[in-house]
Formats: sequence, structure tokens, C-alpha cells
Amino acid sequence: MSGTTTPVAVVTGGSRGIGRAVSLLVAERGYAVCLSYVSDEKAARAVVDAITAKGGQAVAVRGDVGVEADVLALFEAADRLGTVTALINNAGVVDVACRVADVTVARLQRMMTTNIVGSFLCAREAVRRMSTKHGGKGGSIVNLSSVAARLGGPGQYVDYAASKGAIDTFTAGLAREVAGEGIRVNAVSPGIIDTEIHASGGQPDRVARMGPDQPMGRAGSAEEVAAPVVWLLSEEAAYVTGANLDIAGGR
Ligand code: NAP
Repeated sequence: MSGTTTPVAVVTGGSRGIGRAVSLLVAERGYAVCLSYVSDEKAARAVVDAITAKGGQAVAVRGDVGVEADVLALFEAADRLGTVTALINNAGVVDVACRVADVTVARLQRMMTTNIVGSFLCAREAVRRMSTKHGGKGGSIVNLSSVAARLGGPGQYVDYAASKGAIDTFTAGLAREVAGEGIRVNAVSPGIIDTEIHASGGQPDRVARMGPDQPMGRAGSAEEVAAPVVWLLSEEAAYVTGANLDIAGGR
């Protein structure tokens, strides 16, 4: 049943990979899910169908997190479901291998706009709704960073790694900015996780190639990222804010 008291989780890029796993798990925990996607409508619809088939509530909203009007529309759709109490800033992109010596402005703008500006815009809308200073009842934000932020992505995508470094600083700053307003802000830093993101970076074999070299001898699954994300959202993590949790099998 929808209504203003239904807790709503906004999951950006909730249609595939880690975002999909997070959407399915938060729905099981009783959130109505407002998930976004940018192009793959079929995948987004499949997640909505999986949630509603189990008696949950979900909507999928097409939109680019780097476009302000799209972010406003995403949160308006969330408001129609209930009260936004959770944001998972998950949408993110990589690109094909490229040395810094060869980087283009177009590539940098896409990377930084999606990964950094998108996370800021969504957090802004979430804070406006959640903050006790704005009449809200509090909430929790989890940002998807990456171990790439500390490894740097040399020879592959230093720009991606740098965008995740920005997410780490963003998490530290926003967490402290709104800690007294009922909002917790944390990050998770996955290692090699088995999703389609690697194919979108031109390396469909990356998980098979690099998995066995990880300290645990394998890559992680999207579900293994979703569980700690959903824990960070929960009351069990009530005193956790500004944290950055590696989910990287020891990498
Ligand atoms: P993925 O499988 O490529 O899925 C990306 C999701 O984001 C899709 O739902 C996609 O929608 C959506 N998306 C892409 N660009 C968007 C945009 N501009 N606006 C709105 N939605 C957009 O990625 P993933 O592997 O699950 O990664 C999720 C997050 O975890 C990312 O932030 C990534 O950097 C981070 N991460 C992943 C790994 C890993 O090994 N997989 C490791 C460290 C960190 P469409 O389906 O419509 O394209």
C-alpha cells in the first residue's frame, strides 16, 4: 500500500548489476523502491516485476543522473510512493582503457558528470527531503565508491578512479555536514564484482581473468555488495556515518 509513511529507497542504476541486487534486497526489507535506469528499459522492468511479484512496491524511472531535470523527476516519482528515507547512489560508468596522455574532454565530462555530479544531485534531493532541518524525519545515504580510488587505475582508467576518489571525499564531507540532521552517509568500495560494467569498459573477460588473482581467489557477486549496503541503511548501523567499507575480498 502506498502512502506518505511508506519508506522509499531511491536506487540509481537499480536495473542491472549491483543496483539490481540492492533494489531486490531493499524491497525484501520493506522499502518501496524507486529505481532509475538510463537506457535498458527491459532490465528495469524485470526488476520492478520481480519486486511486485513478491508483493513489494517498485517503479522504474528512465533518467540520466547527470541531468538535473531527470534527477528532479526521479525524486518526484519517489515522493509519489511515500517518504524517501534511503538513497543508494549507485549509477556509475567506466570507459575503455585509456592513458591520461590520451584522455579527451568528452570522456572526462561523461565520467565526472555521471559519477560525481549525479551523486551530488541525488544527494541534494535526498537531503532536502530527509534532513530534520528541512522538516524531514532523517534517512540514510550509501554512495558506491571503488577500491580503484586508492589503487588509481593506472593504464586503464585513472579518470574513473579519480571520480571515485571524489566520492570518498564527498562521503566524508556530507556525512559530517548532516550528521546532526538525522542523516547518515556512508560509502562502500567494491573490488572486482561480477557485473556487466567490465564489458562496458571493453573487458568482458575481466572477472574471469582477474578473479583468481584476488586474495580470496575469486571475484565478488552483486548480492555480496548489496547485503552490506542494506546493512548500512539499517538501524543496526545507527551509529555508523562517514564510513567507507571495502567489499573487495581482501584486495
Ligand atoms: P553496471 O552493471 O554497468 O550497471 C550500471 C547501472 O547504472 C545500470 O542500471 C545502468 O542503467 C545505470 N546507469 C548508467 N549510467 C547511468 C546514468 N547516467 N544515469 C542513470 N543510470 C545510469 O554497473 P555495476 O557494476 O553494477 O556498478 C554499480 C556501481 O558500483 C558503479 O558506481 C560502479 O562504479 C561501482 N563499482 C562496481 C564494481 C564492479 O566491479 N562491478 C567495482 C567497484 C565499484 P542501464 O541499464 O539503463 O544502462
